[in-house]
Amino acid sequence: MLDINKEEEKDAVRMSWNVLPGNAVDLQRYIIPCGIHYTPLKKVENLQLLEYEPVRCKQCKCTLAPSFQIDFRSKSWMCPFCSNKNMFPPAYAQHISEDNLPVELLHSSTTIEYKLNKKESKYPVFFFIIDTAIEENELNELKETIQTTLSMIPPECEIGIITSGTMCNLLELGFTDFPKMFVFKGDKLYQPKDIITQLNLINKNDPRVQVSSGKKFLVPLKDCEFAVNSFLDDLFPDPFPQGFEERKASCLGLSLNVAVTLLEAIHNNEPSRIFLFAGSACNIGHGKIVDLSLKETIRNYLDFEKKNSNTKHFKDAVTFYSSIAERAFKSNQIIDIFSCCLNQTGLLEMKYITEKTGGLMVSTDSFSTSVFKDTFKRLFETNEEGNLKMCFKGMSEIFVTKPLKVKGALGHLVSMNKNNLDAVSNDYPVGEGKTILWNLGGLDSTSTYTFILDQSNTDQNVANSLRYCTIQILTTYIASDRSTRLRVTTFRRKYSPDLANNKYEVAQGFDQEAAVVLLTKMAIWKSDTEDRIDVLRWVDKSLINLMERFAEYNKDVPASFKLTKEFSYFPQFVFYLRRSFVLQNFNASPDEVAQFKTILFRENVTNSTIMIQPALLSYSPEESDCVPVLLEAENMKSDRVLLLDAYFFICVWYGEDVVKWREAELQEQPEYENIKNMLDNPNDYVQNIIAERMPVPRFVSADYGSGQERLIKSVLDPSLEGTQNFKEGYFFSDDVSLKTFMDFLIKKAVAS
Ligand SMILES: [Zn+2]
Repeated sequence: MLDINKEEEKDAVRMSWNVLPGNAVDLQRYIIPCGIHYTPLKKVENLQLLEYEPVRCKQCKCTLAPSFQIDFRSKSWMCPFCSNKNMFPPAYAQHISEDNLPVELLHSSTTIEYKLNKKESKYPVFFFIIDTAIEENELNELKETIQTTLSMIPPECEIGIITSGTMCNLLELGFTDFPKMFVFKGDKLYQPKDIITQLNLINKNDPRVQVSSGKKFLVPLKDCEFAVNSFLDDLFPDPFPQGFEERKASCLGLSLNVAVTLLEAIHNNEPSRIFLFAGSACNIGHGKIVDLSLKETIRNYLDFEKKNSNTKHFKDAVTFYSSIAERAFKSNQIIDIFSCCLNQTGLLEMKYITEKTGGLMVSTDSFSTSVFKDTFKRLFETNEEGNLKMCFKGMSEIFVTKPLKVKGALGHLVSMNKNNLDAVSNDYPVGEGKTILWNLGGLDSTSTYTFILDQSNTDQNVANSLRYCTIQILTTYIASDRSTRLRVTTFRRKYSPDLANNKYEVAQGFDQEAAVVLLTKMAIWKSDTEDRIDVLRWVDKSLINLMERFAEYNKDVPASFKLTKEFSYFPQFVFYLRRSFVLQNFNASPDEVAQFKTILFRENVTNSTIMIQPALLSYSPEESDCVPVLLEAENMKSDRVLLLDAYFFICVWYGEDVVKWREAELQEQPEYENIKNMLDNPNDYVQNIIAERMPVPRFVSADYGSGQERLIKSVLDPSLEGTQNFKEGYFFSDDVSLKTFMDFLIKKAVAS
């Protein structure tokens, strides 16, 4: 039997089903689609880096891999995807034999990386868009963080700066004596060509103008660090007077447009990254989220439901930011949004700019929080060689053996429209479909992409002859050392000729975590175009049908219902999925929900699972190790310390007795080492999580009876948050508890 964890360690792959259906009808009967979660930059065991070019199929350009059929006598290999017979290149053919295989053909090389023979990429360009429509103390926090990170940026990297308020000011960094700005009027509607003309970026009669006139806005850090620092020292909030009963004017949409246009014009296709520091919502010009007048409040869910007049900007804003996103990914720019504001800034409207460019979305109350400061600084962390860890220009291509096909992909990626008719499903696509090649933009060690498979075979005789499928994913990207890399992962999975006779084997290949994450990512994708309630019903229906098919029971006898271990947690995951921001927006703002979905959409299986079902660990004086417990308020016992990991925040809670012990300083006495451990261990655990996770989570420590306790209670005791969740589903009506949910589910599943 296939070991799911080993496969993930080796190939960074998780599949909802590890035994694939041999015919199209069975694919439907599997209920949960066949999907692959792939994390191309995950640190995998013993990854070999080869400094020579890969051997590729002459016809389809896939890369030679260990499981491919090799003919040692004729020195050739058969491509499993297009059936082309390829001769080995001469240097290869000379040495290769059954006992003398190159590294890429060893069994251990199912995942391997090539350093391609390409010119080193340029140093990345960093563009800072500073919102000045904020309070002075907030601006000071932001300035300080930017100044700290300047020292972490390689001096060769070019820097650009825009300040954004009533006007969009583009700083001329090539000008040293005193800061000079190029000013765009915030409420004017500029098209990209207007910006190009204004900046004098293109002169048809003299192409040199393009370079010379753009250069002053983007300058290598080594030549402008002093100027940037003194500019920031003297930077104050937007000086324009605020109108009566008006917000501070904010033209963030225009500022983004100027940054993207400038990079398109002078750094097209070179790695670049725009940081949007938003402390306000755009309220003038293109991309306006809310009116300047304080009489209008920023849109909330209720406003959308009631079609209130403050939702009138929504459609235009989404169109504007989508076009910005489209232009940015086409010219290989990454855009990160740091929304640091007590109010919403328009993440719902702006989400496409991070989703399509592989950027980061961070949302927190203020520029003074560690969520902002530490996350931003961590972006500039370096590896052992002293190179920035960030990677650019990701591109993934997938190959599958016939009769499998590709139905689409989910995650922060964009179709490159490589419509290979043999491999692309005719069915309605899932996510970004009708292609086998996608643009990933920026990516990091947890960026995960989900590919959905289709089975095109309808002939049972063919199904009976299928044994294994082969899947290859090729990912190219610019690595930290600015070299171009090709990561190759090739893996095989077994087929089941027909579900009726192989149900046990198929069930054993079910990966319930991967499956619930697949369901979740599909729900996020669906919720972009479908009504929330319809998506909820689709999730309910998928769960019921899956249970009906794979549980063991006698018809109409709920007590006989049994789940094998491969399915045992699945209903519980779905229970929490239904309560998460993927399917509920009770008590949440559109921005909060947008951030949750955007981050979950790009995360790996483990992180996504924590977002869906937070982890709760219990520490007691009796046991030296923590114990995972259910998310129930009854676990808040007086002699326990609880650690709740809800992904975006972590809470360590101390029970009533524990607080007393701690205050009496029992932990200082040698005979109470167990108390010391139960106080220290959760914090060590938290530090480990914080050191790894992006965005950096918020950390809260809460004593029994304190105000902070509410945070953990709201997760453990949903009755505090209202009971609307289960009134809206398709199958489940009344109650909120997991037990009632399970009872309903079982009743539905066993019903004849
Ligand atoms: Zn081929």
